[in-house]
Amino acid sequence: SGIQTFGTAAALEEPITPPVQVNYTKLLINGQFVDSASGKTFPTLDPRTGEVIAHVSEGDAEDINRAVSAARKAFDEGPWPKMTGYARSRILNRFADLVEEHNDELAALETWDNGKPYEQSALSEIPTFCRLFRYYAGMISNCRLGRQDTWSGSSADSSHHVQVLHEPIGVAGQIIPWNFPLLMFAWKVGPALACGNTIVLKTAEQTPLTALYAAKLLQEAGLPDGVLNVISGYGPTAGAALASHMDVDKLAFTGSTETGKIVLELAAKSNLKPVTLELGGKSPMIIFDDADVDKAVELAHFALFFNQGQCCCAGSRTFVHERVYDEFVEKAKARALRRVVGDPFKKGVEQGPQIDDEQFNKVMRYIRSGVGSGATLVSGGDRIGNKGYYIQPTIFSNVKDEMEIAKDEIFGPVQSILKFKDIDEVIRRANASHYGLAAGVFTSNIDKANTLTRALRAGTIWINCFDVFDAAIPFGGYKMSGHGREKGIDSLKNYLQIKAVVTPLKNPAWL
Ligand code: NAD
Repeated sequence: SGIQTFGTAAALEEPITPPVQVNYTKLLINGQFVDSASGKTFPTLDPRTGEVIAHVSEGDAEDINRAVSAARKAFDEGPWPKMTGYARSRILNRFADLVEEHNDELAALETWDNGKPYEQSALSEIPTFCRLFRYYAGMISNCRLGRQDTWSGSSADSSHHVQVLHEPIGVAGQIIPWNFPLLMFAWKVGPALACGNTIVLKTAEQTPLTALYAAKLLQEAGLPDGVLNVISGYGPTAGAALASHMDVDKLAFTGSTETGKIVLELAAKSNLKPVTLELGGKSPMIIFDDADVDKAVELAHFALFFNQGQCCCAGSRTFVHERVYDEFVEKAKARALRRVVGDPFKKGVEQGPQIDDEQFNKVMRYIRSGVGSGATLVSGGDRIGNKGYYIQPTIFSNVKDEMEIAKDEIFGPVQSILKFKDIDEVIRRANASHYGLAAGVFTSNIDKANTLTRALRAGTIWINCFDVFDAAIPFGGYKMSGHGREKGIDSLKNYLQIKAVVTPLKNPAWL
């Protein structure tokens, strides 16, 4: 029936026809959908089959120039940065309403372009997207931005009237990946618009479609022309031109650590624009022997396999206490064998295909590496069907810290289960990574939970839960997982500049 529990290597049935049409494939510059300056296009592919969904305008340096000029003009001369927070909030709220009205089309487009289960797109990601925009709208309609302090004459060194202002930073360049195309749009565009900035957004070449649709709805909601410009195109051309542009005041990037280093260098070598980076991870998920093993198995399964394993914060090192290790591995295997892999448009499907042939080949290479390095292949290890990029939910046990599969970000449905004896050992091993994005801890002992909360060097610690992404919770990395925080009130700092205004007080009556 198109759904298959993995392991039966039968080909998948004919793919379901997505219930949506592709209407927007051009670049959005200054409020207009336009062809790229070169006239070139590139195909965006259906991960279920590898076939072309649509040809999309391919932006490069020339288009980035046009988009940055539009954003610059909209910032310097347009109404957006000068509008009241309330006026901006009304547009963001109207946009969230429009996205809700178009929930099903956007969800279908997201699933078609990315391969994630339709139910995940429709019931979780788009509602979360709307919540994020309403969260930022609420913030600017009800509160002042940042701390806008004023004091007179109380400074230790002089008698002055001082105002500390928080202003929008200017033109924001934003580069996003393909694993959560709409959510990454919301994490970047939401706070930048709320603070009054203008934007040039470069989407991932694998998933250009939903950002163009969403941007169209933002225009419809009343966003002035030029405030948000969307360029589809490749990293080394369009992305690099944006990162190194002299007229871009701030850069926000999500993607691999390798590319993060490149864009940071481009920003430094051009105009020293500040950069926030949300990069890769190899997050530990630590299961103690006092935990309910069935619940731990389910949570660790979700922590790794969610979104086809394509999460920067995936719990990709499952550390299990030796006393429950064998039971855990058996039950994890049973759970993986029950995982429903198939056409992401089919009801009840938990796992669709990987994004493209490059990621598919990379994941398959890591599976071979796991086998070659002596880890025990407990389940999976192969592709499903003979077209598209479906991979069996794969589990390795007896994984050692020094193996490639325990060190590198695989970004696929491959769970590595490691054994530990005591808390100090697991803290040391969990922290022995260049990454520090997230960590999960599963225990019924509050002292262990508190000890780990403080000891683990990661930007998010999930205790007895995983992948909880409320709009208000800050997210970002320690170490080589990145700089800065997105979501929550902390994300506003990325998009505000601080100005001190100082006026002498002449003959004040008092100080
Ligand atoms: P990537 O870092 O190459 O791509 C992310 C974004 O950066 C895309 O928009 C891309 O076009 C752009 N980009 C690429 N090269 C660039 C350059 N030289 N200058 C400016 N922009 C550039 O990631 P990828 O190739 O799509 O995936 C590779 C690996 O990255 C994955 O296997 C995974 O490990 C990791 N990844 C992490 C995240 C995350 O959320 N942290 C998301 C996607 C991928």
